[in-house]
Amino acid sequence: MLRTWPIHEADQIVSLFTRDYGKIKGVAKSAARSRRRFGGALEPMTHVRASYAEKPKQELVRLDSFDIVTSPLSQPVDYARAAALAFYSEVLEEMLPEHDPQDAVFRLLVAVLAHTRTDSIWMPVTYFALWTTRLMGWLPDLATCLPCGAPLAGRPAYYHPQSDGLFCAEHRRAGSSTLSPESISLAARIFRSPVPALAAEDWPRNRAADLRRFGIQALERHIDRRLTSAFALSRLGK
Ligand SMILES: [Zn+2]
Repeated sequence: MLRTWPIHEADQIVSLFTRDYGKIKGVAKSAARSRRRFGGALEPMTHVRASYAEKPKQELVRLDSFDIVTSPLSQPVDYARAAALAFYSEVLEEMLPEHDPQDAVFRLLVAVLAHTRTDSIWMPVTYFALWTTRLMGWLPDLATCLPCGAPLAGRPAYYHPQSDGLFCAEHRRAGSSTLSPESISLAARIFRSPVPALAAEDWPRNRAADLRRFGIQALERHIDRRLTSAFALSRLGK
């Protein structure tokens, strides 16, 4: 479940990210009233088993009922965790085309949701930002400078909100941000490690903040919009 929009009376339009069919939208009739059919399942980032019917020549499916598989509300929610959950919802809602199955993105989401807790949001958020960038085909080569091909290992690299790619010190554009050598090697670990393998590590807010910003800027550049939830995350104090 990505998000809902109220329509007339108690009906809601619901955006769902399904494993088999990608993102779809449907109408949940009387959703605001019928707790029996939809219960607490209209909370974004709830994993549900959805019963729905497609209607000929109509874009919106008719949603009949949801069974909750996992709910984000089964664990405590504070402002930081709510911001992380909103980030996943917003990125997927903006990024995924409709009716385009994205099984790897679906599995990524399930994995990061399981590790997004009130005391741990920065690892899953960073992991999600980098992996979605890669799975959408938007991740540049992290090993070499884009214009000159110089290897970047062991020295700082530079990135810019308006440009794809990483740059060496000589080719960086004005207004670039720095990506530390530690963060570049951490990115390599993120791409070869499942979420649980990183979950035991201490991950305060300032760890790999440059890498997280790099991933979020790549997402924003490709959807051509600033992410409201990324701004909320950047304002968090811990
Ligand atoms: Zn260069």
